[in-house]
Amino acid sequence: MIPISVVDLPVETEAMVLAVLRSGMIAQGPRVAELEARFAALTGTRHAVAVNNGTTALIAALQVLDLQPGDEVLTSPFTFVATLNAILEAGAVATFADITTEDFAVDPISVADRITDRTRVLLPVHLYGQTADMTKLAPLAAYRGLALMEDSAQSHGATINGRAAGTFGMGTFSFYATKNITTGEGGMITTDDDALADRLRILRNQGMRQRYVYEMAGNNYRMTDLQAALALPQLDRYDSLVAVRQANAARLIDGLSGIPGLALPAQLPGRRHVWHQFTVRVTEEAVVDRDELSAKLTEAGVGNGIYYPKLVFDYDCYRNHPRVRIEDVPVAARTATEVLSLPVHPKLSGSDLDTIIDSVRKILGG
Ligand SMILES: *Cc1c(COP(=O)(O)O)cnc(C)c1O
Repeated sequence: MIPISVVDLPVETEAMVLAVLRSGMIAQGPRVAELEARFAALTGTRHAVAVNNGTTALIAALQVLDLQPGDEVLTSPFTFVATLNAILEAGAVATFADITTEDFAVDPISVADRITDRTRVLLPVHLYGQTADMTKLAPLAAYRGLALMEDSAQSHGATINGRAAGTFGMGTFSFYATKNITTGEGGMITTDDDALADRLRILRNQGMRQRYVYEMAGNNYRMTDLQAALALPQLDRYDSLVAVRQANAARLIDGLSGIPGLALPAQLPGRRHVWHQFTVRVTEEAVVDRDELSAKLTEAGVGNGIYYPKLVFDYDCYRNHPRVRIEDVPVAARTATEVLSLPVHPKLSGSDLDTIIDSVRKILGG
């Protein structure tokens, strides 16, 4: 079986983790601080604040914005459930704009249409390793007086016009096991705003500035040095890993072009795609539908994934939730029935790529 994702830690990782174990400093300490500095450099932000996972990163970023009851966060309906859960955990109302099939992120035209006088935060999701259209979304948020957050959990180091995901507003990242950079569980918040960074650091540590001096009702959102040590060697070689992902994507695009009913992903002009996922759309013209292609690929030993099979609010627990505003999002609804992600990770061999291409061609013809 060719897996959809692989955890591949450099050999130096073992020595790094062992050094933390032997130091006796196994909670948040110098390795976390080092990871924060390195991650701020990777994204080009003034501050990076580490937390214990990507969902916490979203929650903490929302919490330092001091939202009031009834305040709305406008986001994508086509995302991992953590985006929605974080909005609800922060006490806000979740509202949704439709997406485009070009970048699978919120459509600036739909966003403009869905902003109400209660909207406080615009929260686009940079899906699959490519950024949303921040050249339009960032000015729109500024013009309408909205705080800007970016769920960048899948897009470490992705850029648009040279600017990285997570640098337009507060960026939130995940280091979960399947993400492009991993600590098993872990997260990061990026910001250029000194005051917000300060509040985030206090918030994650029980609201405490100095021992027993509490400035706000905080929480324990801290990352450990054991986790930070896992990520440091990956940062050393992140650019070369992204280059392998890009080469794999180019080869898949080349091998899969011209198949009727198969829409291929593209790196859009001005954007650096870090290929967290290689996601195709199986449209009506295809000889089998998406679910059948998925099942047949699995039979053929080609791992694949559906991210995401339904709109994020399309579950009973959200459908009647008083703070989830169900919206009509026809493009997102259709896209959820069409998407299929194929392996693109750096551990794929040339023959794996051939197998993926040949298997898809055999099933879809052409
Ligand atoms: C992974 C992910 C998250 C949540 O991150 P965790 O570290 O798993 O909590 C949030 N949003 C998106 C889009 C993700 O892919």
